[in-house]
Formats: sequence, C-alpha cells, structure tokens
Amino acid sequence: MRPALLDPLFADVTSIAGVGAKVAALLATLLVNPGSTVGPRVRDLVFHLPSSLVDRRKRGEIATAPDGTIVTLTVRIDRHQAPGRAAKSAPYRVYAHDETGEIALTYFRAQPQWMEKLLPVGETMLVSGKVEWFNGRPAMVHPDFVAPLAEAESLPLVEPVYPLTAGLTAKVLRKAVTGALERLPALPEWQDPSVTARQTFPTFADALQRLHNPADPIDLDPSAAALRRLAYDEFLAAQLALALSRQRIKKAKGRALLGDGQIRARILAALPFRLTEAQVGALAEIHADMAEDDRMLRLLQGDVGSGKTVVALLAMAAAAEAGAQSALLAPTEILARQHAAGLGPLCEAAGLSLTLLTGRDSGRARAEKLEAIASGRTDIVVGTHALFQDDVDYRDLGLVVVDEQHRFGVHQRLSLTRKGRQPDLLVMTATPIPRTLVLAAFGDMDVSRLTGKPAGRKPIATVAVPVERIGSVVERARQAIAAGEKLYWVCPLVEESEKSDLMAAQERYETLAAHLGADLVGLVHGQMKGEEKDAAMAAFKDGRTRLIVATTVIEVGVDVPDASIIVIEHAERFGLAQLHQLRGRVGRGDRPSSCVLLYRAPLGEVAKARLEVMRDTEDGFRIAEEDLKLRGEGDLLGTKQSGLPGFRIARIEHHGDLLEIARDDARLIIARDPELKSERGAALRLLLYLFGKDDAVRLLRAG
Ligand code: ADP
Ligand code: MG
Repeated sequence: MRPALLDPLFADVTSIAGVGAKVAALLATLLVNPGSTVGPRVRDLVFHLPSSLVDRRKRGEIATAPDGTIVTLTVRIDRHQAPGRAAKSAPYRVYAHDETGEIALTYFRAQPQWMEKLLPVGETMLVSGKVEWFNGRPAMVHPDFVAPLAEAESLPLVEPVYPLTAGLTAKVLRKAVTGALERLPALPEWQDPSVTARQTFPTFADALQRLHNPADPIDLDPSAAALRRLAYDEFLAAQLALALSRQRIKKAKGRALLGDGQIRARILAALPFRLTEAQVGALAEIHADMAEDDRMLRLLQGDVGSGKTVVALLAMAAAAEAGAQSALLAPTEILARQHAAGLGPLCEAAGLSLTLLTGRDSGRARAEKLEAIASGRTDIVVGTHALFQDDVDYRDLGLVVVDEQHRFGVHQRLSLTRKGRQPDLLVMTATPIPRTLVLAAFGDMDVSRLTGKPAGRKPIATVAVPVERIGSVVERARQAIAAGEKLYWVCPLVEESEKSDLMAAQERYETLAAHLGADLVGLVHGQMKGEEKDAAMAAFKDGRTRLIVATTVIEVGVDVPDASIIVIEHAERFGLAQLHQLRGRVGRGDRPSSCVLLYRAPLGEVAKARLEVMRDTEDGFRIAEEDLKLRGEGDLLGTKQSGLPGFRIARIEHHGDLLEIARDDARLIIARDPELKSERGAALRLLLYLFGKDDAVRLLRAG
C-alpha cells in the first residue's frame, strides 16, 4: 500500500482550493495520458514544469521595443481616452510616454473610474506586457502588470511559462500549481548523500520550488542543478524498478540448457547460407547464457535485415537438444505466420516440431494445438501473445524469444516468464537503440549485437521526391513491374479519418490498380481481417501481385526478399526510426534496391533533416543517434505505443550522463538492501510511488 505520507500528492486535483470540475477537466487533457482511468492528481501538477519564463527585468524604451515582445517600460501617464457612448465596443486608451516616444495602453470593456485609479494621470508607472505596433504606433493591449515606480520591487518580474491547453489560462494554471506545491509533504531524502554532494543537487522539495519559481532563465536550463536533481530522481526510480524486476527474474534460479549440438548441426546444413561472423558471435553468447543455471536475460539487437530470426531458431534448437520447449513471440499475426512459414522447412529438416498458435485459432484446432504444447509433442511454439493466455500450458518451457521487443510493454515482458520453469529470455529488437536508451528501457540486460549485414547485400538507393512528381514515380513503378520487380507502396494512414488529409491506402490502391492493372496490385492494412491480410501478403510473396499498397502494418519484420523498391508516401510524417524500418523491407535479396520518399512541401526543419539523414546513410545506429538528436528520446521508438518508458522530466539527450550513475546506484541499493527495508529503502519506496513505479513495489512484497 502506498504510504499515507504521499496521500496529498495522489489526491485528485480538485482537492486544491480553486480547482473545480471544469479546471480539472482541462488539467486532465494537459496532464493525463489519453485513455488513462485516473484523473489528474496533485502530483501531476507538481511535476508539470515550466517550459520557459518571461523575464521582465530588462527595462525597455518605447521607440525601440520590438513588435510582439514582452517589455517592461517606465512611463508617465498623460491622458485617458474613454470610448464614446456610441462606440461602446471601442477600446479604452491610456496614453503614456517616455523619453523616446508615446504608447497607447489599451483596455477593452474598461471601467473609467477603475482605470483612473489604476493609471493616474501624471504618475510615473512601470508597465509590462507585449508591445505591438500598428501603423507605426506602439500599443500595449491589457498590460500584464502596471505599478507605481515605488512598488517596482513587488512585481513578479521573472515569471514561469507553462505548457497550456486550450481553455486553460496561465493564471489559473499557475494558481493550481502553487496550490499543489503547498500540498507537498516533507519527504525524507532518498538519494545517497555522496551523489547529492558530488552533483550539488538541491533537495527534492527545493528543486521543485526553484523550477516553479525561477529567478533567472538559467534556472530552467537542462543543465541546472534543480532539473538534474529531478531527472536523476526519475532515472533512479526507473532503474530501481528495472533492477527489482530483474532481481525477481534472476532470483528464481533457472536451469542449464545444454545441448549436444546435433539439431543445430542439421539446421546449419539445411540453411542456404553461412552464418555471418556476427551471428556466430551472438549465438556463442546466447548458448553460454543458456548453459548457465542463472536465467538468461539477453537483448539481441540487430539492424533490419541483419538476420536475427535464424539466431532465434538456433537458440531454440539448443533448448530442444536439452529437452525443453521454446516459444517465439511475435508482435503481429502477419509476423507470427511469416516466422512459422519461414522456420517450418528448417524445423522439418532438423526433426523439430513447430506449432503456430494465434488468436485466430479456435475450437478443435486450437484444442489440438494446446494438447501438443501440453504433452510436449511440439518443440517450438510460434505465435502472438495468445502464447501466454492462461489456458496455454507448456510441458516444459525453457526458452522464450520475443521478436521486435519494442512493441511489447513491460507488463507483457514480465508475464511472459510466468509460464514454465523460469525460462531463459531472449528479446530481439530490429530498432537499433542507442546505448543510453537500452539502459533506460531494459536496465541491466545483457546485450548481443548483430553488426553488419549478411554478405552480398546491395546498398539501397534512396531519393526524396516531392509529391507533385508522383506521376513519374507511378511510371517508374510500371517499368519496374514490367522488368519483373516487386514494390511496396506505403501510405501512412491506418484508418480513415476525416480530420486527416492523408491519402488513404484504399484510395491509393484504387488509383494504382487503375493505372497498373488491378490483378497486379494488392492491398494490406490494419483494418483488414486476418485471413485477408494473409492472402494479400501471400499473393505478393508468391509474385501474383507485383505491387502491394500497405499501411505501416509492414513496418516490422515482413520479409519478402525479392521486393526491391519501396515508395513511402508522406515520408515527412514518419519518424526516422520508422522510415528506417520501412526501408528495411527492401535490400534483402541480391538485387539492387531503391527507396522513394514521397514528400509534401514545404518541409519543416526537422522533417527536412530526417529525409537528409535517410538519403545519407543506411546505418541504423547512426540513424538512431540522429533521431535522438532531432526529436529527443520521447518519440524515438514511438514510445507512446511501445511500452518503453517515456520520461516526464528527464531528457535523455541532456541527462544521459546521469542514467549510468543511476544504474550503478540502483545496483548497489539492491545489493545492500534487496527488499528496501532500511531507512533509505523506505524513502526509496516513496520515490518509486512518486514516479508511478507501483509495480516494482508490488514485486517487493510478492518476494
Ligand atoms: P531481421 O534481423 O530483420 O529479423 P531476418 O531474420 O528476417 O532479419 O533476415 C533477413 C533475411 O536475411 C532473411 O531472408 C534471411 O533468410 C536472410 N539471412 C539471414 N542470415 C543470413 C546470412 N548469414 N546470409 C545470408 N542471408 C541471411
Ligand atoms: Mg525479424
């Protein structure tokens, strides 16, 4: 149970004076992920940090005040000009001057008496607000502050600016944040004194106060101590949570899976190629882990097309040699089927039995498959998360392989290992994740990397083409088809939506079918039924259709080695990682391939940079690094859907150095106080709750 000390922070925002249902609803859109079942809480406001600040300390002069900027002026009030009776909607103007010129302070629906008190004629006043120039005359509409010069001290000259949402004013939000901060209880320090001293971190409470009440722009800089302190808190919470779940997985002893190599030898003999050096190296690491009686927790990272699947197969073969079953989990039905189809012949050659289990199986067929799994008649089970439903019993599950890991959330990752006797875990990701992100996402996972690609791969020629020239691209597609090539044509839209001006895949399919011949063009998208998707993919794979219009369902893993051209429509709307994944669908065979990035001008800075990176390099690791630079870690893998941790406060591109310290710190904490029972341990539990790591705390109790 969450300690009562934190209750005020986890109370609904309406517990703050002045925050009613209406404001709470606005705060929900601002602070809470869509789909969340809980409303915004006080904690969310406390963690809602200013994005910048308004600095009114610099005094300006009327004549030189730039249009549209906030300035603070020292002016003498000259005269008031109330709107005439006939023109009630006209503004009330107060004219004032300094040595450089005259300015109009403009108010709408002003009360004359009140205005005269506010801005007495003859008085020297400080006014602060946005200056706008109309026809060569400066005006300030509704100044943010006006005060007699003598009261200048009392003005909040440095003011934080918060991200807002439509309908929510800065003033209301500011008040809510202030109210939230008042509810912050006195919390014990959870950080190690040596870390706080070395990093010159303020306390948690001081850091929050400083960030919400900045005295200088420097206070909000990512390198400022207050922000680094909170970033470190967040990293430590995440690393501690990862370390706890890892501890739990590892604590339960695994068992040694040691094979004699016979099945593997048969598979190697049946392969039409030789393993690359990188594949051999990764397998050596995997087999060594499996042979230990500690559980394996290994991430296999390999760029698209680097050949991870065969590595998975050989790992599963080793498990089979040791008499254990394996499960290969794919993120989509298409991929599960592709794996089953691709691995089937190799398994047959090696005498392994493979079962495909997906959500589509039902009735007798499903019952038979479940029986084969429970009796141990099947060695390898390939499927979607249906593999881990409650009624699936394995006779002896020894190894779980998760393909395209970043599609699965942390919860799923944990639930995978409930089946079987502490199975070894190998997770594979095609998205090359920079080191810092591996750390952030997986903590202390061991990592094997497949660098380079199988020999004989040709580079993919990548061009960016404005959408106006789509006609010539279609013409090229026609020639390519005539020359026996196969093409993907990717449209970004997954489902029809009026709000979107994206070209729907359906529509594109129809125009291409009309131009190129209906029997040569296929369509696959996320809204289709499973069987329809399979049929469309199979027709393309067999070559019955030569061009397939697809949404991003083909993004991960789809393997049609003789497809050589990919056209990506609205390329400017995709992230770099996704473009790279998509491009990875071609260049898999021995023919020269190309990628056409169709974009709609004008391109924004970031979109332009992305397309340039795509043209410049095929190196997934470089692309990932560039992506990190361009977008920050939040979007790199599409964290929103991926289950990778997004950080509220920390920014990996700025605070990456703290991540490793947090990792080491977490490791030390777990070594010394595995149940978080010490005084510091109790404080660390608070930290875990504050950053929403309730799951990790629950693991502690479950022991
Ligand atoms: P990914 O790592 O993206 O999952 P796959 O496992 O789908 O890549 O492999 C891509 C393609 O490369 C497949 O057609 C596979 O058969 C082939 N392949 C894998 N390893 C090698 C190799 N050592 N030499 C040649 N081709 C290989
Ligand atoms: Mg793959």
